Amino acid sequence: MYDVATIRADFPILSRQVNGKPLVYLDNGASAQKPQVVIDAITRAYSEEYSNVHRGLHFLSNLATENYEAVRGKIAGFLGAADEREIVFTSGTTEGINLVAYSWAMPRFEPGDEIVLSVAEHHANIVPWHFLRERQGAVLKWVEIDAKGDLDPQAVIDAIGPKTKLVAVTHMSNVLGTVVDVAAIARAARERGVATLVDGSQAAVHMPVDVDAIGADFYAITGHKLYGPSGSGAIHIRKERLAEMRPFMGGGDMIREVHRDAVSYNDPPMKFEAGTPGIVQQIGLGAALDYLMGLGMENVAAHERGLRDYARDRLDGLNWLQVQGHSTGKGAIFSFTMEGAHAHDLSTILDKKGVAVRAGHHCAQPLMDHLGVPATARASFGLYNTKSEVDVLIEALELAHDLFA
Ligand code: PLP
Repeated sequence: MYDVATIRADFPILSRQVNGKPLVYLDNGASAQKPQVVIDAITRAYSEEYSNVHRGLHFLSNLATENYEAVRGKIAGFLGAADEREIVFTSGTTEGINLVAYSWAMPRFEPGDEIVLSVAEHHANIVPWHFLRERQGAVLKWVEIDAKGDLDPQAVIDAIGPKTKLVAVTHMSNVLGTVVDVAAIARAARERGVATLVDGSQAAVHMPVDVDAIGADFYAITGHKLYGPSGSGAIHIRKERLAEMRPFMGGGDMIREVHRDAVSYNDPPMKFEAGTPGIVQQIGLGAALDYLMGLGMENVAAHERGLRDYARDRLDGLNWLQVQGHSTGKGAIFSFTMEGAHAHDLSTILDKKGVAVRAGHHCAQPLMDHLGVPATARASFGLYNTKSEVDVLIEALELAHDLFA
């Protein structure tokens, strides 16, 4: 049974106060809080089991390597990947997408080649493609979302032309919570010989993900949103694509042999993991994934659906609040604006009531342009949030409305 009170007790920070009020943490879209098991795993890794990985033969190096490498298998299991050699460790989604841009895309893009992407992308899934536009003459083809905030997979598929080499789309919008049918997109792209990259930063936190069923070529996740440490993460890359990629960063661990006039490389995934990695960060991510799998992602998703429905009803009841995006199957992420108040002011008032929300463009400026707003305030829910926290949010919004109306 999913007992949210017990779950909340696993997260020490949730019992603190902010501005004299109990913390209501609704900034999970930016980064999630950490359960004690993750904090303990980090402490144990440093206080009892720490050494550099891969190169040593002594006891602690072997132990640290074992603990670190075990996380690769956990990530594969969490993402439904059949082969853990398709998991490349990264410091997060941003590094994962840049890896694809530098290692896979740059060597094969000719001027005029296209990348299809949606207006709902996070900058992490836009700026690396702008690099290709600026440096190699790539063309970015933008697909709009509809009035409800949905991204029609057919619109993405229709944008694929003879010059398209890559489709890069989010699985869940970090601003609107919209879930995208990335499996349909990946299937159609594959039929046309086009690769697909999916930004799974948000989706992997809120719903079960099966990368083999989705069938994309690249699927990126970031550890700190998954209740793990910052600086942890991974990207799932299908074998055929790994074989096509040239190394991006050079250094230790990614080589087989280095001589004065020659170098040969390690096999993937290590070919793409130069230098000392985020050893303890990834070990912490492993503990976070164990925790999530222990709860069951289906159960997490069901809990958050309940929160979404409740929050949607209550927010829709505030006729002076403009909620952006009404996709039916969306995740529990709500962006809103209030006439007469800047999103930053709204967030500051909510903070006085202990309610943490994010305000700004959420690293999604093309989406802000599409919506016609400079910024929104965003309440993003996680596995430990409750309906009574939705009530506190609503009370705080009512207070803000009284102040600004
Ligand atoms: N993509 C989406 C949809 C996100 O929400 C985020 C983080 O906000 C990112 C990418 C970037 O993740 P990171 O900063 O952890 O690399």
